[in-house]
Amino acid sequence: MRRRSSDNRDMSDDKNIIEKAADKMGNLIEKASDTVDNVSKFQKQSKLKSGYIERNEFKDSDLHKGFFCYNCIYWIDMTGGKCMIVDDKGPDLFGKISDVIAPHGCCSLYEPNFDEINEKKK
Ligand code: SF4
Repeated sequence: MRRRSSDNRDMSDDKNIIEKAADKMGNLIEKASDTVDNVSKFQKQSKLKSGYIERNEFKDSDLHKGFFCYNCIYWIDMTGGKCMIVDDKGPDLFGKISDVIAPHGCCSLYEPNFDEINEKKK
C-alpha cells in the first residue's frame, strides 16, 4: 500500500519531533551527569590544611566577637557544629580530634558573618 504525500509529510514531522526530543533528553542527561561530577569532585578541606584550631580556653568566650567559627559564614549549627568547606573529621593543628567544627574553633578560611558579629560592613 502506497502512502499519500500528506502521509509522508506527517511521518517526517513525527521524525523531526522525535529527533528534537532525543536531543533535549541527551542535553538533560549530559547536564545531570555534569552536576553529579561536580558534586563528587568537591572535597572539603582537612582541618590540617585549613589551619583549623580548637582551644578549650575559648569555649566560654563571647562568640559574637572575635575570629570564631560561630560567626563565620561557613559554619552550620548542627550536631556540635559543621562547616561547609572544612571536614569535621581528623586532627586539628594541635593534633586534637573532636569530630566537630566547634563554635569556638577557627581556621585560615574564616569569613566573617556580620549578622552574627552585629557589625555592619563599611
Ligand atoms: S573558620 Fe574555618 S572551620 Fe570555622 S566555619 Fe569558618 S571556614 Fe569553617
